[in-house]
Amino acid sequence: NSPVASNFIRNLIDADLAAGKHDKTVTRFPPEPNGYLHVGHAKSICLNFGIQDDYRARGYDSHCNLRFDDTNPEKESEEYALAIQDDIKWLGFDWDGEVKWASDYFDRLYRYAEELIEKGLAYVCELTPEQMREYRGNLTEPGRPSPYRERSPAENLDLFRRMKAGEFADGSRTLRLKIDMASPNINLRDPVIYRIRRAHHIRTGDKWCIYPMYDYTHCISDAIEGITHSLCTLEFEDHRPLYDWVLDNISIDCHPQQIEFSRLELLYTVTSKRKLNQLVSEGLVAGWDDPRMPTVSGMRRRGYTAAGIRLFAQRCGISKSENVIDLSVLEGAVREVLESEAPRVMAVLDPIKVTLTNFEAGVTGSRSAPFHPNHPEFGEREVPLAATLYIERDDFAEVPPPGWQRLTPGGEVRLRYSYVIKCDEVIKDANGQVVELRCSIDHETLGKNPVGRKVKGVIHWISAEHAIEAEVRLYDRLFTELRPDAVRGADGEYLDFKGFINPESLRVSTGYIEACVADAAPETRYQFERLGYFVTDRYDHAPGRVVFNRTVGLKDSWAK
Ligand code: ATP
Ligand code: MG
Ligand code: MG
Repeated sequence: NSPVASNFIRNLIDADLAAGKHDKTVTRFPPEPNGYLHVGHAKSICLNFGIQDDYRARGYDSHCNLRFDDTNPEKESEEYALAIQDDIKWLGFDWDGEVKWASDYFDRLYRYAEELIEKGLAYVCELTPEQMREYRGNLTEPGRPSPYRERSPAENLDLFRRMKAGEFADGSRTLRLKIDMASPNINLRDPVIYRIRRAHHIRTGDKWCIYPMYDYTHCISDAIEGITHSLCTLEFEDHRPLYDWVLDNISIDCHPQQIEFSRLELLYTVTSKRKLNQLVSEGLVAGWDDPRMPTVSGMRRRGYTAAGIRLFAQRCGISKSENVIDLSVLEGAVREVLESEAPRVMAVLDPIKVTLTNFEAGVTGSRSAPFHPNHPEFGEREVPLAATLYIERDDFAEVPPPGWQRLTPGGEVRLRYSYVIKCDEVIKDANGQVVELRCSIDHETLGKNPVGRKVKGVIHWISAEHAIEAEVRLYDRLFTELRPDAVRGADGEYLDFKGFINPESLRVSTGYIEACVADAAPETRYQFERLGYFVTDRYDHAPGRVVFNRTVGLKDSWAK
């Protein structure tokens, strides 16, 4: 499913397999169900599930789990969890066995916490969050021990059990690991591993009023599942000593290896669920799956294919160096896949009327044209010619620039799949706006060149009476800034990324399209010749209401 490309992580896995350290691979993709997946997650999905699929293909026992990291009950929802599962499947991957949830391990996590307390490695702390921050120190100053640090295991065990039993108010106590308040790595300065929070949880309901923290939960969940290689983004590099410390200090056999790679940063967009959530909740986009969103469901609705996104992920590569990628790389991968997969039809999005003054009996009114120049198996359709056509307004110039090969007064152009026509007369309205071109057909030019002269230009067109009308949504990039969330104002402070939304990111127009698209199912992709790739909208397109979204433009339009 994913194109196999070598990278430092696969090399490392290969070495572990060759050395007999492992005889299988077990990876996991661990999203928090607090939003929809975005293009950065797609990179991680292609990596983790790609390892499962490719090593299986090479004969190994390989698995990739989908595990929801559901330790923040207030922010998580079933809707998000279901959308995440849909997105992974749509991307072409499948997890091994049942969906896993960190909350499945809450009982075991609790028992390991008691084990740590009994070993004198964890204590109940009563510092407020502000005090705790202050005691923790910073990069230049070591932390100071909490006054509660030297409580006896018996007292801690009693307090922790009472925390669990609901005897204390939310936020009034935490369970902390007893590691090293002077460690240069702040993550090791007695991190909190449990907090009190009376929140309804999507899976465990009201069973718990204490919840484990991510760092504590994650490593143990990995170990419980027998993960061999736990792949995460670079910001967790500093957390690795904690990951290892926890697993070294509890009674568990498995110790997965955490390996970090750089997160994808895509220019002209934001890749953070929190920020994407703001766009949705403040109504700045139509929803998580708005075609301008960098979410998997937004990209899907935009018309991107799963293969295009997988190709993009492969091109991003996996490494520890910065992974800043221009949007054009994503668009290029999408275009590349659509180039050979999308049937081609003609559509006119900004029409100007053309009357063929000598369209009469004897004119070949209809011709068969292939849906794809290189794929005869896509079949053909009839392209009807008639006395009234539409052509694209910008395919006509009254005063042509040098080198112009399209229509101009007195000039000639070929209608794609049809005759050469000549513009004899330009009709304008009272405001001087061109409203109609009166043209004549050269009857000798069907399927052959005109005698004695060259006509280089070829334009797309559509018969007015045969065309169907469609709503066409012309999408463009959502932001005007390269890094919308990293723009600073005069005082050096970060400006609100929502101030950089591209006002042109959506224009809706009426298009005239070949009638053969009328019966297309939702999510059918086409190339509109010379205009770009378009898809019928996943939700709004229906029989009798044709709705297209522009996926991406063409890099080089063939006749311009
Ligand atoms: P966000 O900040 O958008 O919420 P996250 O990392 O908190 O992202 P999770 O749901 O925890 O979101 O992510 C699940 C997995 O996806 C993690 O293993 C994470 O490393 C990976 N991931 C998230 N964003 C990116 C990214 N931009 N590039 C690569 N991997 C990513
Ligand atoms: Mg996270
Ligand atoms: Mg996050």
